[in-house]
Amino acid sequence: MAALKQSKNIGMLSILTPKYRPQINLRRNLNLQEYHSKDLLRKHQVSIQDFRVLDTSLDTKVLSDFKANEYVIKAQILAGGRGKGHFDNGFKGGVHLTKNPKEIMDLAKNMLGHKLITKQTPKQGLLVDKVMVAESVNIKRETYLSIIMERSYNGAALVASPAGGMDIETVAEETPHLLKTVPIDIYEGVTDKVANEIAEFLQFKGPLKEKCAKEVQKLWQLFLKVDATQLEINPLVETDDGRVIAVDAKINFDDNAEFRQKDIFALDDVSTTDPREREAAALNLTYIDMDGSIGCMVNGAGLAMATMDLINLSGGKPANFLDLGGGVGQAQVSAALRILESDPKVKTIFVNVFGGIVNCATIANGLVAACKQSAPKLPLVIRLEGTNAGAAKKILEESGLPLHIVNDADEAAKTAVKLAQRA
Ligand code: GDP
Ligand code: MG
Repeated sequence: MAALKQSKNIGMLSILTPKYRPQINLRRNLNLQEYHSKDLLRKHQVSIQDFRVLDTSLDTKVLSDFKANEYVIKAQILAGGRGKGHFDNGFKGGVHLTKNPKEIMDLAKNMLGHKLITKQTPKQGLLVDKVMVAESVNIKRETYLSIIMERSYNGAALVASPAGGMDIETVAEETPHLLKTVPIDIYEGVTDKVANEIAEFLQFKGPLKEKCAKEVQKLWQLFLKVDATQLEINPLVETDDGRVIAVDAKINFDDNAEFRQKDIFALDDVSTTDPREREAAALNLTYIDMDGSIGCMVNGAGLAMATMDLINLSGGKPANFLDLGGGVGQAQVSAALRILESDPKVKTIFVNVFGGIVNCATIANGLVAACKQSAPKLPLVIRLEGTNAGAAKKILEESGLPLHIVNDADEAAKTAVKLAQRA
C-alpha cells in the first residue's frame, strides 16, 4: 500500500495527500522484483508457489524440471496492478494462466522486451525483462495482509482485509469496515492472540485459521529480519485444497539498514530506473519524475512539497523535481540544470532555493556557469532566499543572461506557470 492516512473508522489508513500532489519518496527506495521478494518469503518459510524465472534469452532449460498442473506467468516490474495492465504491443494482462506447458513460451514472448502499462506505472509503462513462471493455485478467496511502519503508532502495524486482490486504497475509501489495523508491540511481536485475531478478521475458518495465523507470524519474522518498512501480500489466498498462500509480495526496506542488509540491497534493479534519476543519484542528488511541464530545482523535502503545491495552486504542473539537499557544490548545480533540461516534458525551469546551509551564491554561480557553457534552452525562473541571497542576486543580474529573477515565491511560481503555458 503506497500511502496510509488517518481515518476515523480504523484509527489510521491512507495519508492520501491532496489529489494534485503525487506520492513521493524523497530517498531512493530499494524496490525488489516479485521473484526476489518471494525468495525472501521462501527463506522465512512463508508459503508461496514454486517458481522459475525466464529472461530475454528465453532459455527453456530453466523450465526443464518444472512441472505443474497449471502455470501462472507473471511479468516482473516494479509496480502492481499487473493483472489488469496491458503491454505496448497490445497484449493484455501481465498475469496469465495456462495448463499447457507449450504455451508458456508464447505468453512469455508477448511480455519480455515489451513495456507493461498499469495503474501504477508511468504512462509509457515499464520494460519487462524477467517473467516469473509459477505453479498456479486454485484460488477460493483472496485476502489482503500487510505489515507497515506506521507513524501514528510509532511502530509497526498489521493491516488486514478479507477483500484482497484489489486496490487497498479503494477498500479503505469505500468499505472501511473491511479493513482492520492492529499495532504490533515491538517487544511482544505478533502474539498468537494478535495473529488469530487477524486470521479471524480475514475470515479463515477451522484449521485454516491456525494456518493463516502461522503465516502472519512468519511474515512478521521476515519483516523484522530484513529491516522492512512495508511488507504487502496482496493477495494472501485461500486455495480450494485448504492452503494459505502468499500469491503476490511487495517489500520496502529501510535505507538506513543497508549496511546490514547488503545482500538484499545488491538485488536493487536499476535497469528500469529513469536515467535522469540515476544520473542525479550519481551526483548525490534526488530526482523525482512527474508528468507536468515545470522542472523544479529545490533544496529539502519540505520546500520541494511547498514548491509543487505553489505550482499546482498557480494552475501549473511540475514535470519533476530535483532536490539539491544541503551541502551542494557549484558543479552539482550546473549538472542539475542539465538534468532538468534533458527532460522533453519540461517547458520552464523553476529554481526555488531557501539557503540555510546552502549558500545562494553557490547556486547562482552554478546556474550562471551552466548557462555560459551552453545557452539556456528554456525560460529559467529563479527565486533564491536566505544565506547570501543578496550576493546571489547580484551574480545573476550581472551575468547578462535572460533570467527571470523573482523574490517572492508565490509570484515566482505564477511566473513559471505562465512561461510554461506560453511555450
Ligand atoms: P498484480 O496484479 O500486480 O497485483 O499481481 P498479482 O500477483 O497480485 O496477480 C493478480 C491477480 O491474478 C491475483 O489477484 C489473482 O486473482 C490472479 N492470480 C495470480 N496468481 C494466480 C494463480 O496462481 N492462480 C490463479 N487462479 N489466479 C492467480
Ligand atoms: Mg497483487
